[in-house]
Amino acid sequence: MVVNRSVSALLDDRVLSGVAARTRTTATLERFNEQGERCGWCAHPIRLIGSVTSVDSATGEVVRTYSTNDESDGLLLKACGTRRATRCPSCAATYASDARMLVRSGLSGGKGVPDTVSTHPMVFATFTAPSFGAVHGTRSKNAPCRPGVKGQRCAHGKSLSCWHRHHDGDALLGQPLCGECYDYERAVLWNATCPELWRRTTIYVRRELARQLDLSVTQLDREVRLSFVKVAEFQRRGVVHLHAVIRLDNRDDEGMVPAIGVDTAMLTAAIHAATSKVSAPLPLGFSDEPLGLARWGQQLDVRVIASSEPDETHADGSRADTSSGSNSSRAIANYIAKYSTKSTDDAGALDHRLTSLDDLDDCRVTGHLRRLVETAWNLGARSHLARLRAWAHSLGFGGHWLTKSRRYSVTFSFLRRQRQAWQVRRTNPTTTGTTINLGLWKWVGTGWLTAGDEWLAALGHRTRARSRIEARETFDHEKSQNAVWTWAGDDDSSLGVSPGVGVRWS
Ligand SMILES: [Zn+2]
Ligand SMILES: [Zn+2]
Ligand SMILES: [Zn+2]
Repeated sequence: MVVNRSVSALLDDRVLSGVAARTRTTATLERFNEQGERCGWCAHPIRLIGSVTSVDSATGEVVRTYSTNDESDGLLLKACGTRRATRCPSCAATYASDARMLVRSGLSGGKGVPDTVSTHPMVFATFTAPSFGAVHGTRSKNAPCRPGVKGQRCAHGKSLSCWHRHHDGDALLGQPLCGECYDYERAVLWNATCPELWRRTTIYVRRELARQLDLSVTQLDREVRLSFVKVAEFQRRGVVHLHAVIRLDNRDDEGMVPAIGVDTAMLTAAIHAATSKVSAPLPLGFSDEPLGLARWGQQLDVRVIASSEPDETHADGSRADTSSGSNSSRAIANYIAKYSTKSTDDAGALDHRLTSLDDLDDCRVTGHLRRLVETAWNLGARSHLARLRAWAHSLGFGGHWLTKSRRYSVTFSFLRRQRQAWQVRRTNPTTTGTTINLGLWKWVGTGWLTAGDEWLAALGHRTRARSRIEARETFDHEKSQNAVWTWAGDDDSSLGVSPGVGVRWS
């Protein structure tokens, strides 16, 4: 049995006695396993007691009753549902799987989205923050960090050059060369302004497209809809990057290519022009001196997403190769899903709101991150920036981590409902759409009851994750063999076990 360090560290007497209690008989273990599977082996499940009665709305007949009295420990466990992998790897895996699905269906169709979306003008763009001071970083072609002029120092006596070639895990990466020179105030306020800067960018892109087409924005908006999904990612230096899929749809039918002649090259040019022009005012910081405008950084990466034209036929009669399109959509979906479960810092020390700056003493963060958090907290003392207290752990960024425009594809709640419906069908095949569930629930606590349960849950999650990987590998292998069978692995409906099987939360 392979057990990671965090799991094995729990193997003390409390764990052993807890595990022994659960494994006393096959029946007790089976009932516990059922409970664990249902909440997806969540690391911090919510414990509930209550009951639910399912009534056929047509006949008034009670078709099913459920009570936690019949459960192991008389409890129902509901998954915590966090997106952060550092808090609950199991729920984050479910979130990532939904995020993947949500992104992919907008790239290549599925879940009710027509696969013709893959033929629309569409790009994958990365928007970066400007510099707030020199930081250590890795450079391309193994170049040194910051060659600069030898001996040159800042006003605080710190060297302005660094000749190291930092490796990937180097703790210095993202740290400023001089903490006193680094503009923490502006960095935090830029993070806070980033959602507004993005909103304005979508307006500017439409404006630039209209200009290329010699139309007014109103005329363009009558024909074209700009759809997107984006994810925020924290760089090591503590500022947000945005990765976005941007797609152009027909205004009246998002499954159709816009009728007026817009193409990917025009979209790419519009994004470049918009990014260089757009700005949003930074709010006042510690003083009443205006801080100017928030803009994007110099680095902008816009990649064309290879389209898979389903009807495209070559001159020799062969069909277009669609594999590159589906590969790139898969890679992009995985990329976005991965970032959607990340915390502000890699270790997850800042994965929760702070109640005071003293909370920072319990977080193992670098001096640089600490100063960013402190700056956000202290800026929050000003009435117009009060929200920065709630966003101090995310360094001033208060936007959603993953957002999409309404028509890009399906929603998280749609995918969640679909998964729950699938669970209901699996566990209670007689349940139909005409059933009404009447339930009463009471919260009794959070987390597993004993250290032994917690240990078994961590093991359950790891086993589940491993079988998920194996299933995916088998799928990829079978696919490469051109097998004819299909597997529902991409929608992961069989994997993300929803909390409370067949129960509606009332
Ligand atoms: Zn969880
Ligand atoms: Zn360096
Ligand atoms: Zn300095």
